[in-house]
Amino acid sequence: MFDNLSDKLDKALHILKGHGQITEINVAETLKEVRRALVDADVNYKIAKDFTSKVKEKALGQDVLKSLKPGQLMVKLVKDELTALMGGDAAGVNLSGKPSVILMSGLQGSGKTTFSGKLANYLKTKKTKKVLLVACDIYRPAAIDQLHVVGEQIDVEVFSDRGNTDAVAIAKAGVAHAEENGFNVVIIDTAGRLAIDEEMMTEIANIHKAITPHETLFVVDSMTGQDAVNTAKAFNDVLNFDGVILTKLDGDTRGGAAISIKSVVNKPIKFIGTGEKMEAIDVFYPSRMADRILG
Ligand code: GDP
Repeated sequence: MFDNLSDKLDKALHILKGHGQITEINVAETLKEVRRALVDADVNYKIAKDFTSKVKEKALGQDVLKSLKPGQLMVKLVKDELTALMGGDAAGVNLSGKPSVILMSGLQGSGKTTFSGKLANYLKTKKTKKVLLVACDIYRPAAIDQLHVVGEQIDVEVFSDRGNTDAVAIAKAGVAHAEENGFNVVIIDTAGRLAIDEEMMTEIANIHKAITPHETLFVVDSMTGQDAVNTAKAFNDVLNFDGVILTKLDGDTRGGAAISIKSVVNKPIKFIGTGEKMEAIDVFYPSRMADRILG
């Protein structure tokens, strides 16, 4: 379905073979292909442009054209840079609290509730933690039901308070319940809207202030492409979150949003969601993502 960037670059550079040293002009030409590939993968255009400018500096002076497969070498250079860009702080969540409080943020439909369940299941089975899920969506009763269904699936307790319209109070009560009952981790699932709005931002900011979580995670649907950047920025401005969760990577998106988000908010991508099932969670590996983005 996708053209192979390595082949494309091989072709482009083949024409220029014999020049010995890679020149500014042919690097610029091939990087145009790289830029196109990044934009095709949903990387924000400006970010793709800045990125290829950086790679250009590195590429100049390297004997790329002397190699048998200059395109592959160029791709390696690009891949290494992409990996470095998406890397950074080690993944994993802060579990130092007693209990550790994890606040989930993101738009409605991004996969927050599903991921809350996946993370609870992951921490329960892989880290042997006693986890409590807290339902703080006061606007959609269905969202509370959904979290209860998730909790039943993974055998994790869910704290909710139907009818209570104070999300901050529910979050605080959930944390208190966890403290009193020996839970190691509390995951707070919050309300999301279809688009950023002030009321939602104020509410989550208030929850954040009231419970001072050990870890605030921003969940984003990788299929939203370019829009993911604006959403990430808006949430980060308010919450200064600790990490990003990229969901729905089982779809046919290349996942370029990972680069855009990392470039704009400079927060590590910690986990990815790869399906609707509770087991469809994976730690984020920058080099795998770079492979996927480059095709
Ligand atoms: P929320 O509104 O942010 O809580 O989002 P939900 O958790 O309700 O997820 C919205 C929809 O996306 C649901 O139908 C989920 O089953 C689905 N979903 C969540 N994560 C993934 C994922 O990683 N892959 C796929 N294919 N679907 C997902």
